[in-house]
Amino acid sequence: MKITDHIANANGKTLFSFELLPPVKGQSIQGIYDAIDPLMEFKPPFIDVTYHREDYIYKQHDNGLLEKVSYRKRPGTVAICAAIMNRYKVDAVPHLICGGFTKEETENALIDLQFLGIDNVLVLRGDARKADASFIPTPGGHTYACDLLQQVSNMNNGLYLHEDHDSSFSTNFCIGVAGYPEKHFEAPNMKADFKYLKQKVDMGAEFIVTQMFFDNSKYCSFVKRCREEGINVPIIPGLKPITSSKQLISLAKFFHIDIPEELSDAILKCKSEKEVKDVGIEFMIEQCKELVKFGVPVLHFYTMSNPGPTKRIAEAIF
Ligand code: FAD
Repeated sequence: MKITDHIANANGKTLFSFELLPPVKGQSIQGIYDAIDPLMEFKPPFIDVTYHREDYIYKQHDNGLLEKVSYRKRPGTVAICAAIMNRYKVDAVPHLICGGFTKEETENALIDLQFLGIDNVLVLRGDARKADASFIPTPGGHTYACDLLQQVSNMNNGLYLHEDHDSSFSTNFCIGVAGYPEKHFEAPNMKADFKYLKQKVDMGAEFIVTQMFFDNSKYCSFVKRCREEGINVPIIPGLKPITSSKQLISLAKFFHIDIPEELSDAILKCKSEKEVKDVGIEFMIEQCKELVKFGVPVLHFYTMSNPGPTKRIAEAIF
């Protein structure tokens, strides 16, 4: 079912959902089930699975020469989505990224997803490879999320890449995109970021999932501005509790977000990592209570495949 239908059917009740990372190559699917099982009691109507572009590693040969090798650390997004749908009978939402795919490969992936009965995709540009200072598009692939979105939207209208035959079949994907309450780090200002977000919605995106944030006022201002700009699709807040003291820096650095002083002060006073985790979870519970009052459609958790903290929060909310 489409995410927009799940939201409409909930009649204003806030839903619960979460995101998983494919396990590092060489691990079994059991790790995924172990990350999902404890959260199923909160009845997620959908579960997201991230997609990870390849990185480069350098292999040293006997003659001392280094060979640059392309290496995907977390493959398996499509298969994990199929396994989730088969085992839990909930919608799986694969993330689709520009990086690492040619347009032809994207088309084939979308056909696979359609055959698997997947109704929703989250369309993203994707992160830069670790070795690259900024995002480098794949030759023959897309540069921005809106370009990839155009391809999905074309397939929804029965337009395939190289039509040498009549395509009588259109896909029907419900397309989501990312939004940044604190601005995407590359955008020169909020105005520019809203311009491209609006473009994505005008091109067919039906819901937005936000970057994580810890200050609800930033989410509320973002929603207000979206509505003023004519962006009227559901805006799903993405959430992650702080669970270790090092995340004070790593989350702020990697996701370009602010940690409120109240939260960082409380964490800095903690005497153990267990205390840090408790403080982070309690903070997130209060944040979620406020978001539910605000009327958010879904509380969507970035679990990083560790269900424990999300379970404690969901127990307090749902
Ligand atoms: P875009 O919408 O393409 O925007 C990127 C930047 O370019 C922005 O600054 C925007 O303002 C600007 N821009 C957009 N369109 C244009 C245009 N036409 N011309 C000029 N400038 C433009 N990364 C992964 O690798 N895998 C994942 O699974 C993944 N999941 C994510 C899930 C969520 C909910 C979020 C919020 C992020 C996720 N990311 C993931 C990270 C994401 O790929 C990065 O944040 C990336 O840097 C931007 O992606 P985007 O889709 O927002 O890009």
